[in-house]
Amino acid sequence: MVKSPPRGPWTQRFLVHVFTILFGLLSYWFLGFVLGDISTWPGPDYAALQEQMLDPVLSAESQRLQEETELVKRDVETQQARQRILRDSTDNAQKTMQQLLEFQRLSLQKDVKPSPEEQAALAESQQRFLANQKQYQELTEEISRLQEQLRNLESQQRINQQKFHTASEPVRQEYERQSRQHELKLAFLQLAVLVPLLIVAVLLFYRQRESLYVPLVTAFAIAVVVKVMLVMHQYFPARYFKYILVITFLVIVTRVLIGLLRMIRFPKPDWLHKQYREAYEAFLCPICDYPIRRGPLTFLYWTRRTIKKLRPQPSGDAAAEDPYTCPACGTNLFEACPQCGKTRHSLLPTCESCGNTRPVEGNHHWTGAASS
Ligand SMILES: [Zn+2]
Ligand SMILES: [Zn+2]
Repeated sequence: MVKSPPRGPWTQRFLVHVFTILFGLLSYWFLGFVLGDISTWPGPDYAALQEQMLDPVLSAESQRLQEETELVKRDVETQQARQRILRDSTDNAQKTMQQLLEFQRLSLQKDVKPSPEEQAALAESQQRFLANQKQYQELTEEISRLQEQLRNLESQQRINQQKFHTASEPVRQEYERQSRQHELKLAFLQLAVLVPLLIVAVLLFYRQRESLYVPLVTAFAIAVVVKVMLVMHQYFPARYFKYILVITFLVIVTRVLIGLLRMIRFPKPDWLHKQYREAYEAFLCPICDYPIRRGPLTFLYWTRRTIKKLRPQPSGDAAAEDPYTCPACGTNLFEACPQCGKTRHSLLPTCESCGNTRPVEGNHHWTGAASS
């Protein structure tokens, strides 16, 4: 029988695990760098498209409106500032005038006639006050005119923006189309790198899975598969990706399940050998577990658990040496050895009489098949 290969001390096994994981991670990062560099490929330029496709008159108009609005806004601010200064000055004039008036009133109460200088000062302050008032009024009118202009400009700007928006619709569509194309190109390039690697990884995995280097190959294969999945997730619509993912897992799970079922139905030779040997020891048919009732056991009853309590008496019964076929399933269990002619176990590799060895077959020895 095949002995399992030496496994090495646990430190070495541990280090192998650590380095396998490290190798997988490094492979994954390496792939990530390559794919990242591919995706830095420049995509479509919206500003360039706009310049190329949009009516230049429209953007010039938009520019002009913008500039004019700024100008008028600045004018309004300047005039408002002037108005504020003027208001201070007017307030001052008003106060001076009131003081002078009060002074005159007091003088008149005392029957003192105001001097011509005083009268002139009062007249001047009155005039300044009135002039200021007038200028203030003019400024207010100017400001309201400017604000009217500003409203006008803003409404023009709104109309222009509406037009601009409508006119840029084809630009946006073109940009989106080019973006999708760019994405597809990137996906194609990245998969062009990944798919050959994936094929190599899968082939290596199938070729090398019995070999010494299986951890290396497995780590590499897992890194590539995860990367492929991520790239597909990034570029393909989730609706398709969902199917790709679930179909992939279905295939994997199906393969594993089939492998398990086949292992039970068609066991590997050493497993089979163990199963047959244990059945013969318990005097049970290795194929169907029916008791092998031959020789001294012919009229007894037992199961796998109770066979150790049976102590069959040895007898000189020659029937114990006859070939024997399981009456339940028809499998040859004891047969004449082709070399020495004595009876041997059909399902064990070696004849107990002459030592002739043949391999244990995976399939059952059906009586029909055995005789052919
Ligand atoms: Zn049987
Ligand atoms: Zn023999």
